[in-house]
Amino acid sequence: MILMEEPMAKHCSLRAGGLASEFFAPTDIGQLSSHLKKNKKTIIFIGLGSNLLIRDNGFDGLIVHTKHLKGLNFTNGTIAAEAGTTLAKLSRFAGANNKHGAEFLSAIPGSVGGALAMNAGAFGSEIWQYVTSVTTIDNNGNIQQRSPDDFAIAYRSVKAEHCDEFFVSAEFNFNQVEKNIEARDLLDKRNASQPIGLPSCGSVFKNPDNNFAAKLIESCNLKGFCIGGACVSDKHANFIINQNSATAQDIEELIQHIQTTVANTYDVALEPELVII
Ligand SMILES: Cc1cc2nc3c(=O)[nH]c(=O)nc-3n(C[C@H](O)[C@H](O)[C@H](O)COP(=O)(O)OP(=O)(O)OC[C@H]3O[C@@H](n4cnc5c(N)ncnc54)[C@H](O)[C@@H]3O)c2cc1C
Repeated sequence: MILMEEPMAKHCSLRAGGLASEFFAPTDIGQLSSHLKKNKKTIIFIGLGSNLLIRDNGFDGLIVHTKHLKGLNFTNGTIAAEAGTTLAKLSRFAGANNKHGAEFLSAIPGSVGGALAMNAGAFGSEIWQYVTSVTTIDNNGNIQQRSPDDFAIAYRSVKAEHCDEFFVSAEFNFNQVEKNIEARDLLDKRNASQPIGLPSCGSVFKNPDNNFAAKLIESCNLKGFCIGGACVSDKHANFIINQNSATAQDIEELIQHIQTTVANTYDVALEPELVII
């Protein structure tokens, strides 16, 4: 189904942002490909919107939501997951098939596609460590098979020459002999240190080399500091909470205020992990 003028606050975990002029959630990859072959607009793919903010003036283009692309298979030791599969489901599926290493994914509230785009990671592991191949689709609806060597992969960063391609599925080899940690313990650790359940995007900034963004922000006494309805979390200084109907502009101004304060105090440039469109 195609929706016009869709409020993106409904689809982003910060619960803020403007309208998408066209919003499409394909039921399968064939339908996606047919739509892209006809499309002339600028395209953005989204998963669970847990690391995404669309500015208040909206996005004049096509948003492809992968929520129905949820195929998950286990063949010859390899797990194949479509882009809209949640990371929690992938983690549980790997465990149920006696494959270890995917436990960390249960703590990240994103989709496979979003995690591939961000090289999502937690507790010392990153998703691309386990990828054996990906399937992508380009602006014209053509499908490609790619290997990890086709991408420059770094901390929360994935770059490709063919940057007009989007992830539709991936194959994983979770090949560790033992579990890293019990998923339950991960979630307990998260709940103890992060404001889970409130509208946020997780960590707003990447950790600078040999430092922690949260530590720098907290040292600048910014915990609890607000602009409009957007506040620095009291529980975790690298989280911004939409506390009171924040606009995307409130959130962006708070991000800039944090960057300026940390730069003036410590001479460190904080780089956002959050994707702002
Ligand atoms: C409470 C909380 C805790 C978090 N903890 C962590 C953590 O520990 N580690 C971590 O790494 N992240 C964390 N995050 C951030 C976020 O969950 C991850 O970055 C996640 O991988 C984003 O997935 P998504 O499906 O929500 O992506 P979205 O937010 O929908 O999109 C993020 C980016 O990926 C792109 N994208 C999405 N799908 C595709 C696709 N199919 N093809 C190409 N590009 C695509 C989007 O265009 C956008 O640029 C946390 C977020 C929250 C709210």
